[in-house]
Amino acid sequence: MGLIVQKYGGSSVADAASIKRVAKRITEAKRAGDDVVVVVSAMGDTTDELVDLAHQISPMPPSREMDILLTAGERISMSLLAMAIANLGVEAQSFTGQQAGVITDEAHGRARIIDVKASRIRKALDAGAVAIVAGFQGVTEHTNDVTTLGRGGSDTTAVAIAAAIGANVCEIYTDVDGVFTADPRIVPNARKLDRITYEEMLDMAASGAKVLMLRCVEYARRNNVPIHVRSSFSGHLGTMVTDDPIEGDVPMEQPIISGVAHDRSEAKITVVGVPDVPGTAAQIFEIVAGAEVNIDMIVQNVSAAATGLTDISFTLPAADGQKAMAALHAMQSTVGFASLQYDDTIGKLSLIGAGMRSHPGVSAKLFGALRDASINIEMISTSEIRVSVVTRADQLDDAVRAVHTAFGLDSDEDEAVVYGGTGR
Ligand code: ASP
Ligand code: MG
Repeated sequence: MGLIVQKYGGSSVADAASIKRVAKRITEAKRAGDDVVVVVSAMGDTTDELVDLAHQISPMPPSREMDILLTAGERISMSLLAMAIANLGVEAQSFTGQQAGVITDEAHGRARIIDVKASRIRKALDAGAVAIVAGFQGVTEHTNDVTTLGRGGSDTTAVAIAAAIGANVCEIYTDVDGVFTADPRIVPNARKLDRITYEEMLDMAASGAKVLMLRCVEYARRNNVPIHVRSSFSGHLGTMVTDDPIEGDVPMEQPIISGVAHDRSEAKITVVGVPDVPGTAAQIFEIVAGAEVNIDMIVQNVSAAATGLTDISFTLPAADGQKAMAALHAMQSTVGFASLQYDDTIGKLSLIGAGMRSHPGVSAKLFGALRDASINIEMISTSEIRVSVVTRADQLDDAVRAVHTAFGLDSDEDEAVVYGGTGR
């Protein structure tokens, strides 16, 4: 008999029929003899709708109130799911994040889980019930305020609970069959990966793959929680995210490329005419850091001999673009640069694979594939197991498809199925 955590995303519980279907799945696992804890997201696009609603009321809603509002979504789905399970003759009890003992820091809207006091969950399991926990939410230790973990945070709730109760596996149910070599919405003949290491999954998530939230993968790696990403719409086995060999694994070299990720959420700022003297880059990035903006790629050009001036470009989340521009403008005369350019029509493509470490020529092949597709590269950055490039946003989909094909990742069998979700 095992102990499993199952997490169902918003598209898996989008309406009453879906909730009943998921309930059936849960009772089957329970009847097969496993103890089951379920973590659930808000129904469909509920969270987005609540965000829209708040912004109709207030341009800048207080973050504490925003958090209370958004946690309502998961409270609706958790209770409905408990009712659906009870209808099938299995006892179920739903718990808010607070009731489930999910303790977080005080950063409203992006709180971090600092502890899970799972006694209430264990009690429910001991009583033979399925425990259902509202994802994406917790409570602060000292002030007892309700917090949310950031968009997509239910994945992290699930992994944190799996770690706290020592579950055998954390199953993340979603609207695709697992982790694919590229987003099946863009590359219909992407291939499903049977397994992927935490390190590769971290780079995929950080590079824009939305199938798992970055923080959930970090948490799983730190606590060695195996994650099984699979569809709630099919019975297929999905993708295991783990560093341990899995049953039936043939020992083999790490694949050179495990996937192509893309990200449309970044923008590029170019600081034009920067005096090329020691200390200016430090000044510029101190200003950006002071505005609490995380940057991603940085490129500095060679300075023109005649002027001694250079340009520095960097990418950042587009959501932080105006904040960073305002902070830089305010310091323009101090730093002495000529002007600023802002561009949010960029896309980022990343090629990820642990086998890259020991294989030369990966970058050359990537650039060749983009050349053949007539796609211009604007910025490049690399790590040991990743190469990323910035392109025009409207060429990003073509770039992903070209690179996927060039690296031999296209499948000639089943097309990847996207079972649900609005992709919102
Ligand atoms: N409902 C939240 C969101 O849409 C949390 C989640 O889905 O994981 O971001
Ligand atoms: Mg959601």
